[in-house]
Amino acid sequence: MHFDYNSKNIQTIKQSIMANQEDMFKKVVSHAKEYGFIFPSSEIYDGLGAVYDYGQLGVELKNNIKQYWWKSMVQYHENIVGLDSAIFMHPRIWKASGHVDAFNDPLIDNKDSKKRYRADVLIEDHIAKIEEKIKKECDKAAKRFGDAFDRQQFVTTNARVLEHQKQIDEIHAKYAELMNANDLAGLKQLILDLGIVCPISGTRNWTDVRQFNLMFATKMGSVIDDSDTLYLRPETAQGIFVNFLNVQKSGRMKVPFGIAQIGKAFRNEIVARQFIFRMREFEQMEMQFFVRPGTELEWFKYWKEERLRWHLALGIPAVKYRYHDHEKLAHYANAATDIEFEFPFGFKELEGIHSRTDFDLSRHSEFSGKKLQYFDSELNENYTPYVIETSIGVDRTFLAIFSHGLKDETLEDGSVRTVLSLPPVLAPYKAAVLPLVKKDGLPEKAREIVDLLKYDFMLQYDEKDAIGRRYRRQDAIGTPYCITVDNDTLTTGSVTVRHRDTMQQERVAIAQLSAYLHDGIKPIKVN
Ligand code: ATP
Repeated sequence: MHFDYNSKNIQTIKQSIMANQEDMFKKVVSHAKEYGFIFPSSEIYDGLGAVYDYGQLGVELKNNIKQYWWKSMVQYHENIVGLDSAIFMHPRIWKASGHVDAFNDPLIDNKDSKKRYRADVLIEDHIAKIEEKIKKECDKAAKRFGDAFDRQQFVTTNARVLEHQKQIDEIHAKYAELMNANDLAGLKQLILDLGIVCPISGTRNWTDVRQFNLMFATKMGSVIDDSDTLYLRPETAQGIFVNFLNVQKSGRMKVPFGIAQIGKAFRNEIVARQFIFRMREFEQMEMQFFVRPGTELEWFKYWKEERLRWHLALGIPAVKYRYHDHEKLAHYANAATDIEFEFPFGFKELEGIHSRTDFDLSRHSEFSGKKLQYFDSELNENYTPYVIETSIGVDRTFLAIFSHGLKDETLEDGSVRTVLSLPPVLAPYKAAVLPLVKKDGLPEKAREIVDLLKYDFMLQYDEKDAIGRRYRRQDAIGTPYCITVDNDTLTTGSVTVRHRDTMQQERVAIAQLSAYLHDGIKPIKVN
């Protein structure tokens, strides 16, 4: 069948997709609040822009994300060790790293709506709209050709798709050229040439593009006049670089080796929107891997693949992830890619993997006067190691997992259940223990099971309301297993285990429960 959409229809379809995405996103935000995952910061004082607090379930999920990352980096790699450096650091560190002079975002205001935007984000959003057109062409063709549809062939031969792709490539190239030349007037002109309008006012009445430094400054010392200006760290990486020698020598580390760190970072983001996707105070999980010069691109490839495997081991479908190789490389990098995730508002960066050359160690050597080098006994020479960085946001990972997992399902009897299909390894509670009724010795038996398992698993005990309602409550907070204690439990020593995603139930001996849960919450092995 061939549908000939007129532009009005296309507009209507576009709006309904947008409305769906928006509804979905609103549902994510309200669910997170309703069930104690995430609250706006300082809410009783009307909140603070782009700052959030993690509630009783949010902190569990967040801690599990951090633990999952820490284990796969530090515990499973002999040559990676951890670090916890202070947030306050010597101000010269930020001069050396380039953040004082160049940690800027290009901002632009719309004079009619008085709204402020990041110029690069406006251009990215414009590109995303063209990508959406390509996707539509593909979806239409896939419907038309059915099983015979060959996507690869289609995107490399269809005239309309090629035209869209050409446009994207030209915009990317122009944008990279302007950013590399720090040509702010050119950037404004590109926004005008592309016909980008303000999403609020719908006009092209833009101010000039200006640079804005994202670091928060504060003062250290009791006398304001004499005190030094400090910066709240905008990334955790520099704490690793300045401790390179300490860790290498005290840990007798041999290149190649890595240092991993999880910690808070602060950025005065211009446009802080999209919930916990872009926050002013957030958390990063970063690992700097020190290698012999000349081997960095091999290691870059290794970490690029390894990090995607880490994501896929959570069981989220591979189509939700994609690489975005950078055309515009930061001045210190010789290769860079992002792992992007399909959030409710489209594909966006979740993690960055960068080959940072010897830039950071060399700069800190220069600024501190201390030689940050490594003596390689196999080569019998001193050198400044090259660095591969993997850097991922805890909060963005949270949002990815949470938004992907949240869905409303219509059941066979027509009722709707809300289920949060979190990867079991990350779920706040691994199981809920539920006595079928509040009498006949069932609560006591259920408490015994809690005592048996609570040292190994985070559990919730619940005896209120009918069992069906209790199952729904656990579905909504992502608990992978419900363990129901019934009258038979007292005689057979077995319980019913209900699976969150399939709602299937099976009988399991109490003595087997621990092994059963261990098995069920493991990450998937991906090769
Ligand atoms: P973006 O282009 O989205 O601003 P970035 O390229 O500046 O991100 P990096 O400096 O590479 O981000 O930081 C590494 C990771 O830290 C990102 O992939 C992201 O997951 C996380 N991150 C960065 N900025 C924020 C923020 N403001 N809020 C939440 N997470 C963030």
